[in-house]
Amino acid sequence: MTVTSVAQAAYVIAGLLFVLSLAGLSAQESARRGTVLGMLGMGLAIVATIALALDRSQRPWPVTAGLILLVLVVGAAVGSWRARRVEMTQMPELIALLHSFVGLSAVLVGYGSFLAEPVGAAAAGGDTVHRVEVFLGVLIGAVTFTGSVVAFGKLSGRLPSAPLTLPGRHALNLLALVACAGLLAWFVAADGGVAVLPLLLMTLVALALGWHLVAAIGGGDMPVVVSMLNSYSGWAAAAAGFTLGNDLLIITGALVGASGAILSYLMCRAMNRSFWSVVLGGFGAGATGGPVGGAAVEAVQAGEVRATSPDEVAALLTAARSVVVVPGYGMAVAKAQHPVADLAEHLRERGVTVRFGVHPVAGRLPGHMNVLLAEARVPYDLVLGMEEVNPDLPATDVVLVIGANDTVNPAAQDDPSSPIAGMPVIEAWKARDVVVFKRSLATGYAGVQNPLFFRENTRMLFGDAREQVDKIVQAL
Ligand code: NDP
Repeated sequence: MTVTSVAQAAYVIAGLLFVLSLAGLSAQESARRGTVLGMLGMGLAIVATIALALDRSQRPWPVTAGLILLVLVVGAAVGSWRARRVEMTQMPELIALLHSFVGLSAVLVGYGSFLAEPVGAAAAGGDTVHRVEVFLGVLIGAVTFTGSVVAFGKLSGRLPSAPLTLPGRHALNLLALVACAGLLAWFVAADGGVAVLPLLLMTLVALALGWHLVAAIGGGDMPVVVSMLNSYSGWAAAAAGFTLGNDLLIITGALVGASGAILSYLMCRAMNRSFWSVVLGGFGAGATGGPVGGAAVEAVQAGEVRATSPDEVAALLTAARSVVVVPGYGMAVAKAQHPVADLAEHLRERGVTVRFGVHPVAGRLPGHMNVLLAEARVPYDLVLGMEEVNPDLPATDVVLVIGANDTVNPAAQDDPSSPIAGMPVIEAWKARDVVVFKRSLATGYAGVQNPLFFRENTRMLFGDAREQVDKIVQAL
């Protein structure tokens, strides 16, 4: 039995573990098991890859155990340092950054494989397939790389979240694709040293294309961008797998690419947007920021919004029979999930029916709220999706909106001119009373003003969500 055959068998097992992992991750109850299976698969894949690399030490690149150990130690050290330090609110930007690494490695693998090509191979007509693999790997990798870097900038607030709308931007994108097609033809036909020129030119075009594609997408569409880049990074890995002749990388890349594409579709459906309208960009253009800070106080003083206090909310909850909690990004910022879970438990002990209504794009990451609620040990059966909770809201006494904003905005239904018009939202305003926990009247991620705050049955509890929920729990 050769090292290669054992490693190939290990790859098949690792591939199966990845499939089982994805299946586990599709439900909260089995997500922990899914994660463990994924870790086992990845561990097995790493061991098999090292064995294979050492066995093939003379081709295509000289790989030594020392070199592998060095990159393992450096990678593991940086990875565990970041994982330990990252805040839950920084997860989306970290993920965007990690996608950029996948893109960059696909580019490097492509160049490495091209440079290792035997001289004159393409001229001899023997290696067209390899050239196409290299070209596509570098193309997808470069688009993923700059696209992810821009997404990282937008999600971390380093770049403006408003879409960049260059004149003739669709024509520019089309031109870039046509140029890439022409460069592919040149690359395939070119001989040895000359072929590097079309490859380099295409890399520059692809880097610009990735940057422009994501820069043109506005704030509210970022959930789709995150899942789309996730998908691109999978295809970039699969392309690298073809270039390296590594089956597991092809399987894993295809799994990530396909699941990212499904997630993008689900995100588009949750926002009632067509995939192409998101990719072609421009959503969120012209969105206006709402009053912040002192202006909130003025609006309160003018009687436009009703401010409330933790004691009043405690009294409201004491009289309630059914309560729905709608968490949003602000709950993650305030780290309020534990006090919110305590509050729900208190109310349940008093016989109040408590449920959580989670919008598919709440927070800054698909499943963000589910992760926080699971961390705070909220029972899974209390956590409902938007479609499940909306029909119950007219019969609900109190809705507590904890740091959610865009996902409870009635303008999505009432105002056809709103940038988020048509996006399905949690219809909090249909309950008897609504309490909104936030620090000001500032807008959410999409930068759209929220008429919910000014409704008759809404009370605003201004302040940090964690502190306010703590006070309510004490008052109860
Ligand atoms: P929003 O981003 O609409 O609003 C969050 C609100 O939380 C803000 O208005 C803010 O108001 C409030 N907040 C912030 N910090 C605190 C705090 N410490 N205490 C209390 N409140 C706080 O959140 P939603 O979850 O409703 O919507 C998510 C938005 O993000 C959508 O537009 C979605 O498209 C977008 N998005 C989602 C992604 C995903 O994959 N889920 C990815 C990228 C973007 P204030 O400052 O006044 O306190």
